[in-house]
Order: sequence, then C-alpha cells, then structure tokens
Amino acid sequence: MGKYALAIDQGTTSSRCMIFDHSGNVVSSAQQEFTQHYPQPGWVEHDPIDIWETVRGTMLLAMDRIGACGKDIASIGITNQRETTILWDKKTGRPVYNAIVWQCRRTADIIDRLKEEGLTGYIRSVTGLLPDAYFSGSKIKWILDNVPGVRARAEKGELLFGTVDSWIIWNLTGGKVHVTDYTNASRTMLFDIHRLDWDQDLLKILDIPSCLLPQVKPSSCIYGLTDPRITGDPIPICGAAGDQQSALFGQCCFKPGQAKNTYGTGCFMLMNTGRQAVESRNGLLTTIAASADSSVEYALEGSVFVAGAAIQWLRDELEIIKKASDSETIAMSVPDTAGVYVVPAFTGLGAPYWDQYARGCISGITRGFTRAHLVRATLESLAYQTYDILTAMEKDSGVKLESLKVDGGACQNNFLMQFQADIIGQKVIRPRCVETTAMGAACLGGLAAGFWNDREEIRSILSVERIFSPDMPESRKDELLDGWHKAVGRSLGWAKD
Ligand code: ADP
Repeated sequence: MGKYALAIDQGTTSSRCMIFDHSGNVVSSAQQEFTQHYPQPGWVEHDPIDIWETVRGTMLLAMDRIGACGKDIASIGITNQRETTILWDKKTGRPVYNAIVWQCRRTADIIDRLKEEGLTGYIRSVTGLLPDAYFSGSKIKWILDNVPGVRARAEKGELLFGTVDSWIIWNLTGGKVHVTDYTNASRTMLFDIHRLDWDQDLLKILDIPSCLLPQVKPSSCIYGLTDPRITGDPIPICGAAGDQQSALFGQCCFKPGQAKNTYGTGCFMLMNTGRQAVESRNGLLTTIAASADSSVEYALEGSVFVAGAAIQWLRDELEIIKKASDSETIAMSVPDTAGVYVVPAFTGLGAPYWDQYARGCISGITRGFTRAHLVRATLESLAYQTYDILTAMEKDSGVKLESLKVDGGACQNNFLMQFQADIIGQKVIRPRCVETTAMGAACLGGLAAGFWNDREEIRSILSVERIFSPDMPESRKDELLDGWHKAVGRSLGWAKD
C-alpha cells in the first residue's frame, strides 16, 4: 500500500494536484492555469487537451516534488468543474470540439424550447434540476447538431461523451475506462437521480444517442488503473465527485442536516438530506451527494449570486477598502450598522426570491451613517443571504440544520463567521484544512483503496480550526432579520417597468 492519497482538482481556471499523507496533511501540490476561450459573447470553451495536459503535468510535478513514484500513491481521487461537456473519438482520443464550459450560455434557446414544451416539471422530478443551459444535456445536443459530421459518427458508435471526470479517467487509463460517478451524472440533466440510470425520454427529447454515455458508478470505488506509461507503476483511480459534492464530503457532512457553505465570489451551499431526495418548493436543486460506499445519498443545493463579489465591489468600485481582509477590522470598529442594510442584488436575487428584476439597495440611512457602517452592512448581507437559503433548505427537507461547515476565501473573516453563527443560531465550523474540495476527492479515493478505513477515520483526521457559537439574544436576531427582509422587499422588482 502506498504512503499517500492523491487528489486531482480540475477547476474552471486551473488544474491542481494535492498529495495527502495518512494524517491528512498536504505534503505536496502543484497548480497550472490554462487558457479560457470566448469565441462569442456569452460563450466559454476550454481545450480538452489543455485540461488533460495540465492534469497530467501537475500530477507528475506534485509527485516529483516529494520524489514519489507510482507505487507510493495508494489512490487517485478526482474532483472537477461540473457540467462541462466533452465529446471525443474513442479510437484516437481526439476531441471533436472544444469543451463547452458550464458557464456557457449558447444553448439558452434549446432550454427555452424545453420550457415552452412544458417539460420543466418532468425535468425537475426526474433529474432534480431546473432546466438550464448550465447542465450538460443541451451542450451535448449543440455539439451533435452544430459540428459537421459529428452526429453521424456518434450514431455509428465512434464517439464518447464525458464530463471532465470521465475525460480524465479515460485518459489516465490509456483509453480503457469510460465511466462517470453519480454526482457528476446528476448534473447532466439526463440522469434519473431516483432510478440511478440515464433517462431514455430525456435522451429522446434532446436527440442524444445512448451509446455516447459513460457507465455510472459510485463516487468511491475502483474505476481502473493508471496506464503505466503515465505513472510507471499503475495507481488505482478510485474516487470521483463534482467540486461542490466533493467539498461536502471533505467537510465531513455525512449526516442529514449537515451543510457546508463556500464563501467565494458567490456562495455555494449544500445540505445533506440522507437517503431522501427532497424536491424543493423554493427553487433549490436536488442533487446526488458523494457517499463512502455504493449507497446513494442526496443533497439540496442553493447558491447566492453575489457574496465575496460584494466585498470586491467595496474595494474596486467604491474604493473604500484596500484589501478584502480589511473589511473585518473596519466592520468591528462600529457596534452595529446604524440600522442600515445593504442588499447586493446586483444581478437580481436567486433562491428563495427568484426575482431577476431585483436590484441592489442601501436602506435606512441617517446622518450618522459612515463608511464603517457600510462595510459592516455589506459583510452582514452575506450572512443574511446564507440564512435565507438555509431556511429554505430546512423548510423543503423538514430536516433541521445541525451545523454549518464553512470554506472559501471569505470564511477567513472572523467577524462574518461570528455574525453568521448569530444569525442562523447554529455553530459555524471552520476546518484547519480549507482545501476541502481536494480533501474530499482524496478521501473518496483513499476509502475505496483501503488507505483510510472508514468515515470515522476521515472525521478524525479532518481537524477543526475554530468553532463560532451563536451568542446573540433571540429578540435581537429577530429584529435584525425583520429589517433584512424589509430591505429585500425594497429591492424586489426594481428594474421592472
Ligand atoms: P472564488 O473561488 O469564487 O474565486 P475564493 O474562495 O478565492 O473565491 O474567495 C475570494 C472571494 O472572497 C473574493 O470575492 C473576496 O472579495 C472574498 N474575500 C477574501 N478574503 C476575504 C475576507 N477576509 N473578508 C471578506 N471577504 C473576503
């Protein structure tokens, strides 16, 4: 058995590799950015060869940095940008077109048609998703319909489709293994998350031949071995999960009611709902969570569009802070916001309001209002928006939030984390290793390979850096939340004629 568990973290702007020892310490890492292609407004592509070359390069470099060879690595786990779509030739391995990236909006009209045909309810009940151009289904259709010759080759069985995890596994195994995992499959808008199979009706509706599709497997199981031409001794590839699900696992949210929130540019929140696939009434998505064994668990997912971006706005547009981290001391220099609320609805509001016409507002200003109040109110808006989504998740699932695990850049802000705990009335837990996405993939791989024994062992190695406990009287919390919801009310519908 090797000494290390290796994680490949294939993200939207870069590929990274992290190598963990048995105690969960990062012993080596490497990272490489790659080119983003924007062929038209709203279109985003990656070259799949760039994705593969940066994955291979960072993996070999991270191994080289600690003098590790193939037999030193017990397991490879992969986590990846979700939904990004690649089609390639199964004989030559050559992609037939660039990868269409999750952000790409080119298939919005395909989605509009599905909605007009009244398919929203069907898609939601089968896949757990709301029809959207983000997901892989319409992107596959676009490539089949628009790249000359591709449909005929697909129908002859010459081509394969994969999300980025599939593409990496296929390349790592020297073209031997064509699989994906449940979490990635659940983001294609083609996968029945209840029956755990590709949905033949959706394949028909989108005109996608099923011979393109990978076999779907659990997130923690042995998919295959690396080609010795790449790693010398073959290494088992035995973990895969989409980035958000990997972070949920890396945060040890193994039980229903445990949730994680990633405070980045936006916020990504997932709550484990156990064996129950909960259909949301508040516009949240139902998705498959990564499990340590072959059983399937589910999660609710919601996002806040503008979170850390509001702090960037203070820094770059208003120029009232120099660095994002300055916001902490400035916010703490005043005891409250002087009754002011910032609703950063710059691009409308998502769950649970779903108002594309909402716009940002600053409410309740009186003469004593200062820059410090504005900074504090902006930070607090991240916590209020998180509260709104968590409340929707609790309502949808009937599961009470047990704790909130946090990661992402803005979770380093202690003021924000304390205020978050106060507003949700629950503990906020910040781990020592904030690389939770890579950690999750390493754990999924390491469990399947027997490098770690079980989830208990994983829990014991993932140490907590700090716990923020709620410390605000209920009446004060209610008063603040009332004010927040009043301010949200002022921002709704603003841009409508
Ligand atoms: P992403 O992966 O979306 O690029 P990161 O997880 O790297 O985001 O986090 C960066 C975001 O967090 C930025 O929007 C930045 O404004 C915000 N941020 C970083 N540090 C802090 C801090 N100490 N306090 C508040 N916000 C912060």
